[in-house]
Amino acid sequence: MSNEQNLHLDSLIVAAGRPNRQSDAAVNAPVSFTSTYVAPGAVGYGRSGNETWSALEEAISALEGGKTLLFSSGMASINAVFSLLPHRSIIVASRNGYTGTMYLLKKLEAENQCEIRFVDIANTQEVLAALPGANFLWIESPTNPALEVADLPTIIPAAKAIGLGVGVDNTFATGMLQQPLAMGADISMNSVTKFIAGHSDLIMGSLSMHDDALLSRLTMQRKQGGAIPGAMEVWLALRGIRTLDVRLERAQKNALELAKRLSSHPAVSAVRYPGLPTDPHHERAASFMKGFGAVISFEVTAGPEAAERVCAASRLITHATSLGGVETLWERRHRWEGESEHISKSLIRLSVGIENVEDLWSDIESALGA
Ligand SMILES: *Cc1c(COP(=O)(O)O)cnc(C)c1O
Repeated sequence: MSNEQNLHLDSLIVAAGRPNRQSDAAVNAPVSFTSTYVAPGAVGYGRSGNETWSALEEAISALEGGKTLLFSSGMASINAVFSLLPHRSIIVASRNGYTGTMYLLKKLEAENQCEIRFVDIANTQEVLAALPGANFLWIESPTNPALEVADLPTIIPAAKAIGLGVGVDNTFATGMLQQPLAMGADISMNSVTKFIAGHSDLIMGSLSMHDDALLSRLTMQRKQGGAIPGAMEVWLALRGIRTLDVRLERAQKNALELAKRLSSHPAVSAVRYPGLPTDPHHERAASFMKGFGAVISFEVTAGPEAAERVCAASRLITHATSLGGVETLWERRHRWEGESEHISKSLIRLSVGIENVEDLWSDIESALGA
């Protein structure tokens, strides 16, 4: 692939990370199953590098606009970031977000490793007021599962201007819909497990960044921390990223339609989807996001037990956790112990896939009736 072509993102994710074009070269990167390399050489051992990783790292780098490191999971990549923070760092972070991240932040706080300033990440004034004196801002946006949208173009530069490090969990949007690095963030993180891989068949994480010094610290952290992905999983994710744009296009179209219909359903009391014109964060999201993603959250009027029954009653939609795959999934978030007290007990997170929207709606309608 030639970088001089100034390709659009939807072309880059198809073209990036392929072998050099020469006579009879393979079109796809090979799955490189090896734990070690012939000496002497720059890589040396399979915990330091792998040809298949390089191909997917190149593709995610093209997507996020930086240089990328893959990890064995999204959580491994988040742990790698927080492990770089000096003892007693002050972190500003959302008061609700992905349960694994919330667990990690609360653990850092309980063990006196770090001080955490929990904020309403969508409340720009509250975020700005929490920044002075802090070391690091960790933003998840849109948030999991509340679908709150942070004002990234305001809070990222404000944090950078007073010297904070900034990391963004870009899992719900991916570089396809928003570009944290271009807005000034130091790190854009993805749970590759979700939209990038897109088929609910592997667990993986990534960190993308511009700064070479940060890249070498995180490279060392991955090598010595050991949280590396397997070559086969990386190859599957590479196959997945090729179709990210078309999958998202269809899933977002489905999501908007389902969000609209859910909003006027009598068994549903609240719907959050940034793509809904009536959503409190719609205008903000529309001002800097290229799309609104494919995750919806809604509350069941009749309460938590009814919400459980709804999730168990679907036939096309699978009752399961996770998101970002081609198949539609839903679950009541509070079936997990770690879910935030700021999230309603009746909230269902719906990850919309690429099935026929009428089939999805009739499944939802009949489950809501059950
Ligand atoms: C799933 C998820 C993670 C964790 O990623 P894993 O690949 O499951 O470790 C982090 N952040 C968000 C927003 C997620 O949805």
